[in-house]
Amino acid sequence: MSTQRIVVLGAGHAGLSIAETLRRKGFAGSLALVGAEPGLPYQRPPLSKQYLNGEWDESRLVQRNAEFFQRQAIDCVSGDPVQAIDPHARRLHLASGRELAWDQLAIATGSRVRRLSVPGADLVGVHYLQTLAQARALRAQMAAARHVVVIGGGYIGLEGAAAFARAGKQVTLLNRGSELLSRAAGATVSDFLRRLHEANGVQMEIGQVVRAIDGDNDRVRAVVLADGRTLAADLVLVGIGAEPETTLAASAGLQCRDGILVDGCCRTSVNGIVAAGDCARFEHPLYDGRSVRLESIQNAVEQGRVAAATLLGEEQHYAAVPWFWSDQYDTKFQIAGLSEGHSIEVVRGDIETGRFSVFCYARKRLVAVESINAPADHMMARKLIMAGVSPTPDEAADPACALRDLLARAG
Ligand SMILES: Cc1cc2nc3c(=O)[nH]c(=O)nc-3n(C[C@H](O)[C@H](O)[C@H](O)COP(=O)(O)OP(=O)(O)OC[C@H]3O[C@@H](n4cnc5c(N)ncnc54)[C@H](O)[C@@H]3O)c2cc1C
Repeated sequence: MSTQRIVVLGAGHAGLSIAETLRRKGFAGSLALVGAEPGLPYQRPPLSKQYLNGEWDESRLVQRNAEFFQRQAIDCVSGDPVQAIDPHARRLHLASGRELAWDQLAIATGSRVRRLSVPGADLVGVHYLQTLAQARALRAQMAAARHVVVIGGGYIGLEGAAAFARAGKQVTLLNRGSELLSRAAGATVSDFLRRLHEANGVQMEIGQVVRAIDGDNDRVRAVVLADGRTLAADLVLVGIGAEPETTLAASAGLQCRDGILVDGCCRTSVNGIVAAGDCARFEHPLYDGRSVRLESIQNAVEQGRVAAATLLGEEQHYAAVPWFWSDQYDTKFQIAGLSEGHSIEVVRGDIETGRFSVFCYARKRLVAVESINAPADHMMARKLIMAGVSPTPDEAADPACALRDLLARAG
């Protein structure tokens, strides 16, 4: 193993997790971590939270400093996008012309934001928020902005709206569907978050579609809605989801279907290549083998660890409980599990106090728990879902019922 060369393609959360795990487990061969973005690997979640709020500066985003990579003998190649994977010659071709040879490859290319395709979408002042460079540009223009329109009621849109409202901007949020966070959360939390934003002065336009963005001299001036109304805007944030970054993998012949297909050990369809993080699609053992692709730090980090173990010839199977968090104003929202497809929501606690959890059931089985300012519920929920224990709806709704005691039911 010590003579092996491993290259990790993508220096985000999953890529770093893979590289770190390889060294922690004693891999002594050559190891390179290649990223398209300039600089050292950084944390993405604060971009739409502490960094946009102005609470953190850039230095706090850095995950590991240059000395770390030197000490760990990880060749951290940054600002040099990979242009092709040659699976036969086992080489990567980088934009700079450099080539990297590998015996085994880990792909952690993450996802790319979905672009808005309406007239005016390219005007100056229309922003996306996925990379540090984009966050920097957004933060710089935010200072002078008065009217901000946020397109999309997912996590990025909601966190952005909270940051803008806190900064005293006039904020309007457009959401195409009838519920905020429709892909990630249930109706109870969606409704709570809508009211939270309204209470903080955000104007909600629910069920609204953008027809065009108007400008003056290439700068955004207004957002035109499908119903003909026009909203003044000197800054627009678009947060309409992301797609897996699979272009290179697909060109190299790896099987992809809305994500690079991997098995429970993160192996792709090509021998010697693993994948993890936002770019990977797999069958989740805790959800009856449902095919999922997750966009979360938990998944990137933990799946990255399994991918690293596989590269070292260990037989580890990825079976972690998915979890996610979002910060908006002073509210911490946490989800344990996957709520998609649930039919029953049971509230534990009092919604009006702003501290409660929603237990989501599908066919009597607990599939997810969505917690608002209730971290203890969240931690217990992870344990219950991992153990396959479903409290009855009456137990879930009763704050006097100690969830911890129910764990004893685990088979
Ligand atoms: C603003 C924001 C806030 C978020 N907040 C949260 C949160 O609160 N909680 C949470 O759980 N998750 C959050 N997420 C999601 C989370 O950040 C992602 O799920 C996580 O980063 C996925 O890790 P990854 O390594 O798969 O992808 P990434 O971290 O995106 O890393 C992929 C890397 O691969 C690089 N890459 C792609 N193609 C190439 C190429 N051809 N050559 C070289 N490099 C390439 C990219 O440049 C990128 O740096 C947030 C995401 C964003 C954008």
